[in-house]
Amino acid sequence: MAHIEVNENLCKGCEMCVYACPQKIIALDKAKINTKGYHPATLVTPEKCVGCKACAIMCPDVAITVYR
Ligand code: SF4
Ligand code: SF4
Repeated sequence: MAHIEVNENLCKGCEMCVYACPQKIIALDKAKINTKGYHPATLVTPEKCVGCKACAIMCPDVAITVYR
C-alpha cells in the first residue's frame, strides 16, 4: 500500500505538501517539534494515500519519501 515517510528533522513546516496532496491527508503534527523548532508534517490517514508523489515533488526540502 502506498504511503509516505517524512524526515521530520528536514521539515520546516511550510505546509506546501499539505496543500499539494489531492487526498488532503497531510497535516502538521502540532504535538511534535523537530530540531529546527517546527511542527513536522505527518500523514494523517495513511490508507488514503495513492502514491501520487505530489507532496514529495512539492517539498522544497526533499523531506518526503513516497513508497508504492
Ligand atoms: S503521495 Fe500523493 S496521496 Fe500520498 S500523501 Fe503524497 S500527495 Fe498525498
Ligand atoms: S513541504 Fe516539506 S518542508 Fe514543507 S511541511 Fe511538507 S514536508 Fe515539511
